[in-house]
Amino acid sequence: MSDYLVNLSRKGWFRGTVRGLGLPIPLPATLKRVEGPWAEQPLEHCSFESWGGNLDVLLNGLGASPASHDEALGLAVFAARALKTPMDLASLHEFFSPRMKRLESSGRLIIIGHSPKRCDHPASQATAGALAGFIRSCAKELGKRGVTANLISCVGNPDLAPPLAFFGSPRSAFITGQVIELEGDGLVTHAWSKALQGQRAVITGAARGIGLATAERFVSEGADLLMVDLGGDDGSLEREADRLGAKALALDITSETAGAQMLEALGGSVDLAIHNAGITRDRTLAKMSADNWNQAVAVNLGAVERMLETLPVQDGGRIVVLSSVAGLAGNFGQTNYAAAKSGLAAMVRYHAPSLRPRGITLNAIAPGFIETRLTAAIPFATREGGRRLAALGQGGLPIDVAEAITFLSLPAAKHISGQVLRVCGGSYLGA
Ligand code: NAD
Repeated sequence: MSDYLVNLSRKGWFRGTVRGLGLPIPLPATLKRVEGPWAEQPLEHCSFESWGGNLDVLLNGLGASPASHDEALGLAVFAARALKTPMDLASLHEFFSPRMKRLESSGRLIIIGHSPKRCDHPASQATAGALAGFIRSCAKELGKRGVTANLISCVGNPDLAPPLAFFGSPRSAFITGQVIELEGDGLVTHAWSKALQGQRAVITGAARGIGLATAERFVSEGADLLMVDLGGDDGSLEREADRLGAKALALDITSETAGAQMLEALGGSVDLAIHNAGITRDRTLAKMSADNWNQAVAVNLGAVERMLETLPVQDGGRIVVLSSVAGLAGNFGQTNYAAAKSGLAAMVRYHAPSLRPRGITLNAIAPGFIETRLTAAIPFATREGGRRLAALGQGGLPIDVAEAITFLSLPAAKHISGQVLRVCGGSYLGA
């Protein structure tokens, strides 16, 4: 399903009429996206300006080039780790204020800061903490033009190239106002093209929507893929797997033996496990049947939790689970779904540290409003609210979530674990 306002806003006559008559109709920007696999120089054709932290060499290495004075900016990056007191925050104003209008449509604003939890003085904690409010407000001010603003919050001295490549590129088109924590030290070896070559991957719920978009991305990055879904009568799982050159396994993930069956189909080991299958069974709590409660919790949470045990990934592997903004913020008529999705987010936050010694990362993606069959079923008024109540003023596409899942699955994402990354266009819903 596509967003009619984004389509109309592309037409000059429509924009002219809305502006000319002063109509209260939002004109969401067309977000710039890229297709296909990562290129060796992920920020090619991107012009940047930066402040502090010797970032120029890093950005040049990713293919970006310094912007000439007054040129439109693709990327503005600020290294904030040297800021120690609230008065130092003035340099944020000094750098960004004159550049806000220079950021081109679908441009990127990124700040790199310390995580407040590792600062040792109230002044530096307050200063590091101030960056989150700043970035979220920038996201709201810039969203109308499709510009995103994100904060990379560091614990230790992690490799900054991978998050700059992703959050600086069109692959993060629908991620804005987010704080992403990186933990670790030193450089990560990372080829960008075909980075999943030779990796055994499984994606559940892969027959359509976000799962299918992720399957397409995984195959284009070279993964050896198993696609899992309920075996529907329409044969879509087998058809899509055939088209992509992947294996198909028709399976209900709530089965006790689901993990073992997947492992067998994968030939005994798995490197990348993407727990994407999910369902909604919406009703207000007063009207919700026990069946609806149990089904939503069993598929969205129980099955995923069990598969962490029964489908163990190899050392150095990646696990991504699909949570939801509804799980973080709560949602009318979704007590069952929100409980399950918030349970997933907690599991990720608290279980990830125990996997770190084996080089395994565990992260959650929390999509906001994404244009799929799941959201097409929502009544029109609620659907419109879901789309427009976001800084970017529109719903995301399955590919936006697929790009985030793919990024977190790369060897280069080694320093990102225990995170709940919202792919929500800066939704006003929730924290
Ligand atoms: P979708 O309904 O289009 O696809 C989900 C897939 O999961 C389907 O193919 C379905 O057959 C499969 N599935 C369901 N139950 C299963 C089971 N027991 N065993 C195996 N497969 C099963 O949904 P989507 O919009 O692509 O969502 C994917 C994930 O993202 C879900 O976990 C969903 O909760 C989450 N999410 C989606 C949105 C959104 O706006 N679309 C927002 C937040 C979170």
